[in-house]
Amino acid sequence: QFTISDEVKEFLNSNHQLLINGEWMPSSSNEKIEVFDPANEQLLTEVDSGNAADIDAAVGAARKALTGEWSKITSHDRARMLDRLADDIEANFSVLSEIEVLDNGMPLELAQYSIASHGTTLLRYFASWANKLHGQTIPVSPAGAINGESLTYTRKEPIGVVGAIIPWNSPLIFSILKLGPALAAGCTIVLKPAELTPISALFLGKLIQKSGIPPGVVNIVTGYGETAGQALSEHPGVDKITFTGSTEVGKKIVEASIGNLKKVTLELGGKNPVVIFPDADLEKAIPGAARACFFLQGQNCMAGTRLFVHEDIYQVVIAGIKEMAEAFTIGHGLIPGNDFGPLISKTQKERVMSYIGIGLEEGAELLTGGNSYGDQGHFVQPTIFSNVDGGMRIAKEEIFGPVLPVVTYENINEALDLINSKDRPLGLYYFGSNKDEQANILNNTSSGGVTINNVVGHIQQKDLPFGGVGPSGIGRYHSYDGFKNFSNQRAVFKDIGFRFDKLFETIRPPYKGSIEKVLKSLLK
Ligand code: NAD
Repeated sequence: QFTISDEVKEFLNSNHQLLINGEWMPSSSNEKIEVFDPANEQLLTEVDSGNAADIDAAVGAARKALTGEWSKITSHDRARMLDRLADDIEANFSVLSEIEVLDNGMPLELAQYSIASHGTTLLRYFASWANKLHGQTIPVSPAGAINGESLTYTRKEPIGVVGAIIPWNSPLIFSILKLGPALAAGCTIVLKPAELTPISALFLGKLIQKSGIPPGVVNIVTGYGETAGQALSEHPGVDKITFTGSTEVGKKIVEASIGNLKKVTLELGGKNPVVIFPDADLEKAIPGAARACFFLQGQNCMAGTRLFVHEDIYQVVIAGIKEMAEAFTIGHGLIPGNDFGPLISKTQKERVMSYIGIGLEEGAELLTGGNSYGDQGHFVQPTIFSNVDGGMRIAKEEIFGPVLPVVTYENINEALDLINSKDRPLGLYYFGSNKDEQANILNNTSSGGVTINNVVGHIQQKDLPFGGVGPSGIGRYHSYDGFKNFSNQRAVFKDIGFRFDKLFETIRPPYKGSIEKVLKSLLK
């Protein structure tokens, strides 16, 4: 009971190849990857399965482009090209949203929201940094301020060829999040989308071809992680890998990067806690806790999937989140009114169902959900477990699905123990009005970000650094930090009459004799 637009049908029926050096070309593997709609398991299309040789060709194109026409384009023009790309995404907003729903399963409104709030907005945000990547002048003259003796400064240079590897849970947004800062900083890029959701990146590739960005600056190689992803991480011609995905694969990427010691930034997974204090505004906390877990069916790195509730408000909170969980309308994302989609794949559904089985075996009480849904597609009902012990596997392991374990606590120390009983997460959420308790949590825990009395605050802010700590990630995304880590800082010392005699005057005893002697011998 939904229709696919003619434009999307035409795109799905087209031949999907790899974008290398500005041209669409077939993979040398001659193999294809089938792409399915996770909501009805229908075959959507096939894409090329890129291999190590394709990655090599794409990296070669990106390296050539790095010193070619692209390097001569001013930063203002780079910004203009990114803005133009954002305009083109907006012009194709409905097609791209539809593709995102078919590819990933998310509800249409969510796809539209994410393109608007993260896609084009982020691209324009990074475009606005393009002409602000500058270094500093640092006076090093011996007397501190003797002008005209040396010109000493730092410059920020593009880090080089970037390999970007992204997950399936928000495919278009992750493509944009990687392309935006890399291109704004003057880098070139090879993008490897997730094998389960490669098609929005390919549509984006068509828009990139029209944006004025020179050939070879953006290359897109669809393929499996173990082949194309691994080859990209290992490639000696890649200067930086920017990765979003699981902690397990993040570790493999670090290992693969050792060959040429490329820079690596990792946005990884985790199990983010949500804490509700007894004095919390429950009108905000209950829907907040439900949304934190069930947004994108729990397939979200920032999902709040361990809920710790003070015992005084426990009954009221679980009744409220149960009501919210049961109010979702499950179904295909293109059918208006549906607000809860499928999981990405059969494997993911089986994994989530097995965790539900584990929760039951561990003795947790199933409050709602617990079953798959419908006779086609990878749907799992929003599921809540109550009477959960903080040590149970469902309370500790990342499930990446719509399963919320709720644990009670008696006092703040117990809440702290629960939060700290697990590796440091990407995000930590808490609701409450007691300032001492808020400070206590902030000062005695660690996480990539913190959101207080809200669940969407932190991640939605393009200006705020976003990223993990420890096993939830390395490096920052969004913000100036997320931009500047696509550049290298270089120090320049230009001798324009540097006065070493003045320098000697500034050397104090007891070093004077030896430093002067060494410097004089070096200057001979
Ligand atoms: P994944 O790690 O399995 O795959 C991510 C990407 O890595 C895919 O493109 C895949 O093809 C590729 N890959 C797989 N094996 C590889 C290898 N050996 N070498 C190089 N690349 C390889 O993750 P996923 O299942 O697609 O996504 C779910 C995970 O991503 C969850 O753990 C989630 O928490 C995490 N995630 C984190 C963030 C964040 O911002 N921190 C955002 C979204 C998802």
